[in-house]
Amino acid sequence: MFVDKVRITVIGGRGGDGAVAFHREKYVASGGPDGGDGGHGGSVILRVSDHMTTLLDFRYKRKYQAGAGVNGQGRNMAGKRGEPLVIQVPRGTVVRDAQTNQIIVDMSTGEDFVIAKGGRGGWGNSHYATATRQIPRFAKSGRAGEERDIILELKLLADVGLVGFPNVGKSTLLSVTSNARPKIANYHFTTLFPNLGVIYVDEGVSFVMADIPGIIEGAADGAGLGHDFLRHIDRCRLLVHVIDVSGSEGRDPVEDFDAICEELKNYSVDLSNRPMIVAANKIDLMMPESDNLERLRARVEEAGCELYEISAGTTQGTKNLMRVVAQRLSTLPPVTIYEPEYVAPVAAAGTPEELEIDHYGNTWMITGKWLENLILDINFDDYEARNHFDLILRRSGLFKRLEEMGIQDGDTVDIYDFQFEYQR
Ligand code: GDP
Ligand code: MG
Repeated sequence: MFVDKVRITVIGGRGGDGAVAFHREKYVASGGPDGGDGGHGGSVILRVSDHMTTLLDFRYKRKYQAGAGVNGQGRNMAGKRGEPLVIQVPRGTVVRDAQTNQIIVDMSTGEDFVIAKGGRGGWGNSHYATATRQIPRFAKSGRAGEERDIILELKLLADVGLVGFPNVGKSTLLSVTSNARPKIANYHFTTLFPNLGVIYVDEGVSFVMADIPGIIEGAADGAGLGHDFLRHIDRCRLLVHVIDVSGSEGRDPVEDFDAICEELKNYSVDLSNRPMIVAANKIDLMMPESDNLERLRARVEEAGCELYEISAGTTQGTKNLMRVVAQRLSTLPPVTIYEPEYVAPVAAAGTPEELEIDHYGNTWMITGKWLENLILDINFDDYEARNHFDLILRRSGLFKRLEEMGIQDGDTVDIYDFQFEYQR
């Protein structure tokens, strides 16, 4: 079974908790706090594998979670980072956000992509010692890793797509011109998933050709096999339309040509405008009295395409066709790589009212989405930026809440990995 679209959940590992611990040694009366930080959670990483040709593996496993960070320990021992989880995907896999369907990344270039970040580890209590507070009995807990639902969609990366009715000889053409060994048989729908082959035309001249399972009439409307496969020619720079010109199956080549062109148009106008070369196949089976070739040639030329006579069976004309294809490709733009469309939703930004305030003696810990997003934008090394930050916090009503809860001048306000002394 060919699987080229799946939905999975990816979850970054949880960050480890910071430790609450105190230095203990013989003859040392009371040691200072020495609780180490929790390790950061591992991230989920997507990586291209050229050994994979389908998304079949993902059908049986839907949830992918990276390793959690280990909790911090005493003696300032930081917890280990969580193990990253590497997910291998076939080259050409387009990754979408399941909610919005927007493209997050196109796994075509071979670069790794972090799809779900691990959560941060919490600080141990050793960070919270101050002159006035020598025994901090608290530490920060680790944060949850990022979680997201994504859709993996395989869109083959091929320069050339072979299209045509079943049994016209697409697989045969690929097998005699490339290293690929697709299944060939004299009945319809033998090809149940696309095959890719590399065609070497000359030194330094090669291209990738995809054998797409037969498109049947009505396929673009979802009537039968083939519709799902059309997406695999989305990226192709050139289509080679294979037609059984001998009419060996009792069909008419001109009608076949029109029918496939119509299917392409129904699927996408963009695809129907893709440059196309027609391969009039099975000329070895042509009856001498048949006018099929002339009629087809007239129709194809009318449509503005070139026609080449071949016999994939005897390999007559196939080498020449591949040379023509390579020549044509050299004039066309490269294979489409999809640009990311996804932008993290602003709706999840949270509000100042939702901020959580935890209170340990004279340390006040503030957490919440609103703040998380805010500090991403602030450069704390910059005086102006710090003033601006202060102003936003005052306006947000946070300080008012703190005062109602009893904060005093000189207390510590802790915002993630950043602390400041409270002054009215
Ligand atoms: P596909 O469904 O388009 O992939 O068609 P196949 O490549 O599987 O071929 C269908 C049948 O046509 C097979 O039995 C092939 O051997 C046969 N065939 C393909 N090309 C030729 C050809 O040029 N001449 C002859 N005589 N038979 C061919
Ligand atoms: Mg085939």
